[in-house]
Amino acid sequence: MALLDRAIVRVLPAIPRPIVRKVSGRYIAGTELADACRVVKRLNDEGKLATIDVLGEEISSREEALEIVRAYHDVFETIEREGLDSNVSVKLTGLGLKLGYDLCRANLERVVRHAAESDNFVRIDMEDSSSTNDTIRMYRDLREGGLENVGIVLQAYLRRTIMDIRDLAPLRPNVRLCKGIYIEPLAIAYRDFDEVRENFVLCLDELLRAGSYVGIATHDEYLISEGLRLVGERGLTREQYEFQMLLGVREAAGAELVREGHRLRIYVPYGKEWYSYSLRRLQENPKIAGYIAADTVGRLLGRNGT
Ligand SMILES: Cc1cc2nc3c(=O)[nH]c(=O)nc-3n(C[C@H](O)[C@H](O)[C@H](O)COP(=O)(O)OP(=O)(O)OC[C@H]3O[C@@H](n4cnc5c(N)ncnc54)[C@H](O)[C@@H]3O)c2cc1C
Repeated sequence: MALLDRAIVRVLPAIPRPIVRKVSGRYIAGTELADACRVVKRLNDEGKLATIDVLGEEISSREEALEIVRAYHDVFETIEREGLDSNVSVKLTGLGLKLGYDLCRANLERVVRHAAESDNFVRIDMEDSSSTNDTIRMYRDLREGGLENVGIVLQAYLRRTIMDIRDLAPLRPNVRLCKGIYIEPLAIAYRDFDEVRENFVLCLDELLRAGSYVGIATHDEYLISEGLRLVGERGLTREQYEFQMLLGVREAAGAELVREGHRLRIYVPYGKEWYSYSLRRLQENPKIAGYIAADTVGRLLGRNGT
């Protein structure tokens, strides 16, 4: 990342929200469920699957967590009614993890059971390392409690992930494998770009060996080609794995995977709590300085920009 981009990443939280909102617009479907529905329809028309995420990770009360549970109920009803090809992704902190494990578990179970009623599926996103143990425990609890329509995310930047895969292997977990986005200490996470890539490939290989269904979640050209190599070597059919990408990121690469006949699922976040998610996406954008600068200059000159 260029120097200016790195400097911008550091000061991002100080940038006025309207600017963040505008430049991060491409990563978010909108604030309403109808926005997510419209985006998923378009993606489905393009031959892509979706996973809908109700934004809301900074909740501080039981009531807010329940609102998110209710929002997911509306999402499932909309998926059914509109015939969308989409599952959902949930964040445990949004369902009350920091208020209490049992409260969160009860909320998650409600969402997963509701999904099961319409044969749908719930992916538990992985958040920062303060939640890793609880997230894995929660996934295990649900699976051992007989719920099958639930999957987890594992992060290739964490040194522990290869062991987590081995521990979870008897469950044949349905896993989204990604690099990981939170800033973690060197003691527990690889930071070197090539080391993270290397561990991603190692983890993917281990998951496939365990017979897991894997969502290969990356926009990294090298990892996409390694993913294709590994699923090809095992002779997997298109129903036995999928690629995953984020809304608004490297759409041409995604379209190519679809053209080549692979399943591609797009992560579609919507909701009023767009700010934290937007910051994370902007931090990853290699051209962030350009976007912010163009928008800021546009505002100073009184233009709306494109
Ligand atoms: C479907 C999905 C779900 C995810 N869920 C989680 C999760 O639960 N927990 C978690 O910690 N992380 C999650 N992530 C984020 C993930 O961990 C990475 O931070 C993110 O995918 C970037 O890593 P990368 O593999 O794409 O490689 P990178 O090397 O970061 O990106 C490869 C290339 O993609 C492009 N690119 C990447 N991001 C952007 C962007 N924001 N804007 C513009 N271009 C971009 C750039 O061209 C970049 O060079 C998820 C990612 C995906 C795709």
